[in-house]
Amino acid sequence: MKVCASILFPLPLPEAFDYAVPEGMDLSIGDHVVAPLGSRAARGVVWDLKQDDGKRALKMVAQRYDAAGLSHTTVRFVDWAARYLVQSPGMVLRTILRGEDSLMPSPTDTVYRLTGRPPARMTPAREKVLDAMSALEAPTAAEIAREAGVSSGVVKGLVEAGALEGFDLPKDPPFPDPDPERPGLDLSELQAGAADTLKRLVRAGGFQCALLDGVTGSGKTEVYFEAIAEALKSAANGQVLVLLPEIALTQSILKRFTDRFGADPAVWHSGLPPKERRRVWREINEGRARIVIGARSSVFLPFRNLRLAVVDEEHDPTYKQSDGLIYQARDLAVARAKIDGAAVVLASATPSLESLVNARSGRYVHVPLPSRVGTAVLPRIETIDLRQHAPPSGRWLSDPLVAAMKDTLAAGEQVLLFLNRRGYAPLVLCRDCGHRMTAPDTQTMLVEHRFTGMLVCHLTGFSMPKPDVCPNCGARDSLTSVGPGVERIAEEAAAHFPGAKIELFSSDMAGGAEAVRQLVDRMERGEIDILVGTQIAAKGHNFPHLTLVGVVDADLGLAGGDPRAGERTYQTLVQVAGRAGRADKPGRALLQTHDPEHEAIAALVAGDRDAFLDVERASREMLQLPPYGRLASVMISAQSEDRAERAAAEVARCAPNADGITIWGPAEPRYGVIRGRWRRRLLVRAERSVDLSAYLGAWRARVKQPPSVRVTFDVEPYSF
Ligand code: ADP
Repeated sequence: MKVCASILFPLPLPEAFDYAVPEGMDLSIGDHVVAPLGSRAARGVVWDLKQDDGKRALKMVAQRYDAAGLSHTTVRFVDWAARYLVQSPGMVLRTILRGEDSLMPSPTDTVYRLTGRPPARMTPAREKVLDAMSALEAPTAAEIAREAGVSSGVVKGLVEAGALEGFDLPKDPPFPDPDPERPGLDLSELQAGAADTLKRLVRAGGFQCALLDGVTGSGKTEVYFEAIAEALKSAANGQVLVLLPEIALTQSILKRFTDRFGADPAVWHSGLPPKERRRVWREINEGRARIVIGARSSVFLPFRNLRLAVVDEEHDPTYKQSDGLIYQARDLAVARAKIDGAAVVLASATPSLESLVNARSGRYVHVPLPSRVGTAVLPRIETIDLRQHAPPSGRWLSDPLVAAMKDTLAAGEQVLLFLNRRGYAPLVLCRDCGHRMTAPDTQTMLVEHRFTGMLVCHLTGFSMPKPDVCPNCGARDSLTSVGPGVERIAEEAAAHFPGAKIELFSSDMAGGAEAVRQLVDRMERGEIDILVGTQIAAKGHNFPHLTLVGVVDADLGLAGGDPRAGERTYQTLVQVAGRAGRADKPGRALLQTHDPEHEAIAALVAGDRDAFLDVERASREMLQLPPYGRLASVMISAQSEDRAERAAAEVARCAPNADGITIWGPAEPRYGVIRGRWRRRLLVRAERSVDLSAYLGAWRARVKQPPSVRVTFDVEPYSF
């Protein structure tokens, strides 16, 4: 009996297609091949091998690449993720292969360089290629053609004319093997107990998930290092994935890995240069990279023998990818580990309600670390009631906060002022006519950035210089800035403390990751007195001289329709307060609030997380929201409001009838227009017993809309 191969292409096609296998071609699942697709030849991956019943005339697989194929568990993960995320498997495969610029790994691809001999005949297209070459490092012909925007024939012509030459890429240097036997720090008794539990899970083999639930500064990293060492020891080629939020910003943690295991880990994030990306991808695919530290997209790496996945700061909302392929990296990491039979460690000082509920029910092993290492104690958290201590108009720092700052600075210690608002002012309006400056596309408020003199839409990136006259009534110099952003708080702090060294820490910083690293270094060394920062300052940093955290607006984030708003605010405030007093000096956090009785804030002050969670849990349970029910959103967008409206009604009509499903909408989402596309949203709530993915898959199959209408399914949406 002959064999036929199902080939999956990294394209938005509904399924894999069957092909005949030529005599003598030895194929395995996961192999990279070329096969005819329509009128062209396309690269794809062998998805399945079966007996050919000979009833259909099949086209033939054209070529098999020698490069290492995808592991079986990677193939199964693609199928699982496609079903779960309501996506075509080809689109998930595309995400997996994105590590390879040319989509497929092929050491047989020739790379090119300039010879320095210009071609005898020059054309505009050839000139484009020669220009593009200066920015490329060892590109393939396809990369050159794409970069220069020409056909690959032009590249070939230049090779024949002697201006370009092919050469063999020197083999990528392998990642050095980490040494799991190197000793770590001497663990406290509490840490050692937690580490033992994790090591036991890893040693047991098979899928198991632990929640490492330790307060800020409890030494969680050192504890999961032990689990990593165990995973490396347990299998000669075992691999470990460590997910970190905002990896581009967390250089100091990378150094801790290098120190602990005596070798640099493989690092993966979207900012890697193509050559490095290819190298890391291949080393992982071939099982040689043993420790991989990555941003959320690293859940799509082609592991060969995953033994352990660690998700640090597992509650972090940046694990949710909301553009393109929509997914929650923590959830996918757990699913991937299940397929590979690997252990999972979720670590956080403020675990998500989902994970805590799993830990309480016994699905996850609960590993608590209730106190800080060494002599460090948790910061004292107090509120400042703004109803009694309102700063004068146009100011945001209350007298008690300024007094505390003064004491801290006098003691030679550092202050962090936290406000989760970038820019100078969140609103610019006309004093004469009341006109608000909004983005033309989205009607969202434009945020003033005073350092750059621009008004910016934080949703789309639209920006314009701040005008001198009101675009509505024409009044001159009437536009006024309302409310504070971090820039404005820094200005106010400077007015109070003219001698202090004050710096801003937000994602708007010029100079990117390198500037962030330098700023963190200066802060660690005590060269900054007052740091004024957004979310990005709240995460993971260890600033030994920081003893006072002032939260400018603790109420920000509590409003709005997001069912996770309370949980998010609580998590952010615990994290930011946790920056204080991490070394031998005790820290304190002062929260300015109009609502000190709010459950999230009261629980924070009392240090009573469980009281807060009980309230949260009860309300989620009553509404059957996650984790008690499941939620999905269906977003419909079109080029006019009317078409979006009609398409949404049509999509809603296609929804299959099923028990245990409730559908709300169509409604206008929080941002009704983005980049010129009008949006409508349906929310789907499913009882836990319902197979929501199957339901959404059936729904999607019934949706027939023209290409100008986009219909996007989002499982476990984060904001709506
Ligand atoms: P967490 O992730 O829980 O906030 P970390 O693992 O980052 O905590 O540890 C906080 C700080 O304490 C780090 O500087 C770390 O090096 C240090 N530390 C952790 N465990 C120990 C230990 N057993 N002995 C000495 N220092 C430790």
